[in-house]
Formats: sequence, C-alpha cells, structure tokens
Amino acid sequence: ASWFGHVEPAAKDPILGVTEAFLADPSPDKVNVGVGAYRDDNGKPVVLECVREAERRIAGHLNMEYLPMGGSINMIAESLKLAYGEDSEFIKDKKIAAVQALSGTGACRLFADFQKRFLPDSQIYIPIPTWSNHHNIWRDACVPQRTFRYYHPETRGLDFASLMDDIKNAPNGSFFLLHACAHNPTGVDPSEEQWREISHQFKVKNHFPFFDMAYQGFASGDPEKDAKAIRIFLEDGHLIGCAQSYAKNMGLYGQRVGCLSILCEDELQAVAVKSQLQQIARPMYSNPPVHGALIVSTILGDPELKSLWLREVKGMADRIIGMRKALRDNLEKLGSPLSWEHVTNQIGMFCYSGMTPEQVDRLTNEFHIYMTRNGRISMAGVTTGNVGYLANAIHEVTK
Ligand code: PMP
Repeated sequence: ASWFGHVEPAAKDPILGVTEAFLADPSPDKVNVGVGAYRDDNGKPVVLECVREAERRIAGHLNMEYLPMGGSINMIAESLKLAYGEDSEFIKDKKIAAVQALSGTGACRLFADFQKRFLPDSQIYIPIPTWSNHHNIWRDACVPQRTFRYYHPETRGLDFASLMDDIKNAPNGSFFLLHACAHNPTGVDPSEEQWREISHQFKVKNHFPFFDMAYQGFASGDPEKDAKAIRIFLEDGHLIGCAQSYAKNMGLYGQRVGCLSILCEDELQAVAVKSQLQQIARPMYSNPPVHGALIVSTILGDPELKSLWLREVKGMADRIIGMRKALRDNLEKLGSPLSWEHVTNQIGMFCYSGMTPEQVDRLTNEFHIYMTRNGRISMAGVTTGNVGYLANAIHEVTK
C-alpha cells in the first residue's frame, strides 16, 4: 500500500517562491525586491553592531539549559516595556500575560490557538489586504475569518470611511487583527487622529484589538513613535493582545524571537491566561529557543547597547526613507505621467506600487526584477546602485 501516494505538492508560498525564482536567474542585472528582509546599500544582509556586541558578551557564559516554558523572563520584561511603555501602569500592576514566542508568526499563532480554545465561537476580522500568512495562521487554528476594508486602490492610501463602516457593522465584541505600524503589504497606516477614532469606535462596539507589531522602529525610525497606536488604545482603556517580533528591528530573522502579550483585567486573570498560553505551547515545542532571547535581553537591558540599537534601527529606517525618495525622483525625472507620491507617503519596509500582476510579470520576464504579483516592492532591497535601473523598468512597464 502507498501511504503517501495521495499527497499532492503544496501550493507555493507567494512570498518565498519569489526568492527561489530570483536565485535561479543567472542574469547579472537581477534585483530582488520580493522578500521582506533588510539589506544594506550594497544589497547585503545586515547583522547589527549591537547584536554582535551582545553576542560577544554572551559568548562562553551561556549554558544550554531549557528556558522556562513561558520563555526568558528578562526578554519578556524588556519586550513589554517597548510595547506598553517604560512606565506602564499595566506592567507595574502585573496585568499583562506574556510569553516568549517563535517570532511574530509564532506569537500570532499562539494567540489564534488561544482564541479558538477559550472563545470557540469567535471570529477574526483581518484587513484586506494583509500579510498572506495571517490567513494561513487563523485558518490552521480553525478560527473563522472575516475581512474588513483597509486600502483604497485609487488613492493608494487608507480607505478610512470603509474601514470605519466595517468596524461599525461587525457584531459587537468582535476580534480584529490590526497592524500596529508599517502595514504589510501596503505601507499605509492610519494617522494618529484616525487611530483615535478607530479606538473610540472599538470602545463603542466593545471589539478586541489584536496588534501585530512586526516592524516597531522600522516605520518612523523610533520604536516609541511606532507604538503610538497601541498607546492610544491603552489610554482609552482597552484590553489588547500584541504580537512582537525582533526579526526586522533587530535583524534577528532566523533566531525566531518574539513575544505574545495579552493585557488582562487584573493580575489573577493574567496569571491564568499565561498558564494557558504555556499549556498550548507545551505539546507543540515545549519551550522556546534560548539564544535569540538572550541577545534581545542583553541589548535592551543595557542602556549603552540599547542606545546603539536605537541608532541602528533609525539608520535602517532612514535608508529606506531615502530610497523611497530616490525611487520617486527617478520616476519623475524619466517623465512618468503617473503620480508616484504614494511611494514617499507609504512607510515601513514596503511600497504598494499599484502595478498590476501583468506589469509585475513584465518586470520579471524582461528586466529580471523579482517581487510578489500584488505589486509590493520591498524597499529594503532597493539600493543606490539599482534604484535607477528599477525606476526605468517600472517606467517602461507602466507607460
Ligand atoms: N506580521 C507581519 C505583518 C509581517 O510582515 C511579518 C514578517 N513578514 C510577521 C508578522 C512575522 O515575521 P516573523 O515571524 O519573522 O517575526
């Protein structure tokens, strides 16, 4: 008998498939603006200096014992300060249930599983568009999905009116997935004023906000500013959930270090919730990996290393902001009659260019430029060296 004969190959991941195709292309001109990982101005992956220094300090001191089931206590404490604020009353009052997670993905999945287990009749509202893995995560956790409108294709900005309508029309007490900053894939975030209105409407409707914060620091260059949406919801007295990732803002992609937190009504509830999160993690991976967590807690726990990190995050964000300007300038100099204002209005790692799947196919086939077919350009892959080539190719396929 064939045990596995009925197993068909899985559909390719739309994001990871782009890198495979890029690697297989022998052209010397090829450009990868598909994958969401930061590159320096020479197109090379970056290890932050603060990470190197943390590694030097850790080297030889680390035993290889298991972390507690909930992960590194220090890493979690530092993560909560970043998300909720250094002097947060919720931290002092121990109202936050938090566990180390397998980066942002693992934090989202742990939350989704928790949601399924303890609120089995709930659904999750997900923005359209969103990071494609959000759909997979809540699907595999068996939580039914609904969508809400977010992006306006004509303005390439926020569709605030529709967003507010969908919040109002959702049943009271619904769960919503919100990108805390630097929305992926659109690069479009609500303004502070709009966040206040969203938060107010969430109060009216008694909705629960779950913030996916994969890019804290990457949007503005300042992690405090990028936590603004969360802080507004906290000020307004919401209970929230939050997924944090150190993949982008510390460049720890492959270390898989992140944090899931849930603000509860009181300390007792937080203790119960944390114990249940650990219970969910136990049969999946028992306890999380130690090395990345130690790097994070070493950096954030040392004032000198932390300020080095803050400078380095700002450096990454500034380089991306500079490349947005360069890309737009180049397109305008080429005489493109289209508006490219959105390239500099959008923030974070991605530019949602507005190009059609057919135009993207032409970029790939004729110019060896690799990106997802939804027109998303990873600005982190744009450099002084390739921005002219990229602008020219975009102009050719859009004119
Ligand atoms: N959420 C969003 C919106 C993302 O863009 C990403 C990374 N692409 C993640 C979560 C999770 O990334 P990681 O698991 O590497 O932290």
